[in-house]
Amino acid sequence: MLQLIKKIVPRPVKERFYFTRWYRYYARYNTRKQANLNRIADIIESLENLNLREYLKQTVPLGDPTKPIPVPREIVLEINNTCNIDCAMCRTSLSTRPKGLMDPDLFESITDKLSKLRINISSLHTIGEPLANRNLADYLKILRKKKLRVGFLSSNFLLGEKQLDTIFEFRDVIVSIRPSIDAASKPTYEKIRCGGKWEQFQRSLLAFSKRNAASSSPFPVSVHSIVSQDNFHELAFIPLVFSYLTGPENFSFGFINSLAPQNEYFLEKNYLDDFSLNMPCHQLWGGFHILRDGSISACCRDYHGELIFGTVHEDLESAYNNSILGKMRNASFEGLAQELPPACNTCYLVDPRLSDLLNAIFGYFFLIVRKHPAYLQNALHDIGKSMKTKDFRSIVAIVQSL
Ligand code: SF4
Repeated sequence: MLQLIKKIVPRPVKERFYFTRWYRYYARYNTRKQANLNRIADIIESLENLNLREYLKQTVPLGDPTKPIPVPREIVLEINNTCNIDCAMCRTSLSTRPKGLMDPDLFESITDKLSKLRINISSLHTIGEPLANRNLADYLKILRKKKLRVGFLSSNFLLGEKQLDTIFEFRDVIVSIRPSIDAASKPTYEKIRCGGKWEQFQRSLLAFSKRNAASSSPFPVSVHSIVSQDNFHELAFIPLVFSYLTGPENFSFGFINSLAPQNEYFLEKNYLDDFSLNMPCHQLWGGFHILRDGSISACCRDYHGELIFGTVHEDLESAYNNSILGKMRNASFEGLAQELPPACNTCYLVDPRLSDLLNAIFGYFFLIVRKHPAYLQNALHDIGKSMKTKDFRSIVAIVQSL
């Protein structure tokens, strides 16, 4: 039938149709191309014209000073502060908070409160690994009962069959999956993810991927990589090696910031030499982490409980506007590092716009340029040098030549 239609439609009409279709594709291609190059240009303009401190001040949601700061609509709930490995950048083992799992009754009463307040849970971990929690299914059962869903299950993804079964059994509760992948090769992986084995990691991801592909309701998957001197040489290959998990547009990258309390790995392996104290820190206005013992902390980087400002049994809005957090907010906004707890006055940050720039370059390369990642990796060496010397204009030229 189609062949018949093709034969009887006059040539000028066909040409017009093809032109329209071709033009539509071209326009879409061009829009995406411009959008990406424009995005890169916008980030560079901001980097050149606004210093980091002023930029951070703009990201803080100060709100109306005459009104209380609302409790975030998405919070983090820590079901365990333990992990099955001890990654170089996290060093969960250094946390001095008592280790363990959240009591299921406490979890039930917290989720009850959150459900009534219509507050969502963005993730189930701070410095622990929720997939290493032997009672994960029990917590997910409670979430299902309360009609709550968890934003994503971040993971180092060293899973056994039983944990995989749990994830797929609770597909209605878990919205998406986000494994952390910082390496495209065994030596790099095992250097960063101390205690993890590359072969086991690949096996877990492949088993997950196979089941996800066969599922009638597959999980959306995104991947995040922390960028350091240890992996910069193979960054562009990460989306290629793990292309069986998701498309390259779902990989994001962020330059390493302070995480482990002693900063050893950050100071040694930070790729960019330029970093500053994280002040003002938006976590103090937007962070709400319920820890495994029911206390509330401003931040996931609370290894020793220094940023606890209340407990979940209080009125949450009053707690979020109490004097403990108020003093921290004020000191952070005014840049008074000595008045902040040690966790904050040793918290270093690489300008987040540089991570935005890196992601825009990756997006442009994988969606528009679409060559083998070796081309991008080759360019990344020059891009990295330009980032270090703050010669941002030369980055535009490098990207255009890809
Ligand atoms: S430790 Fe303090 S400064 Fe660092 S991210 Fe957490 S709240 Fe912000």
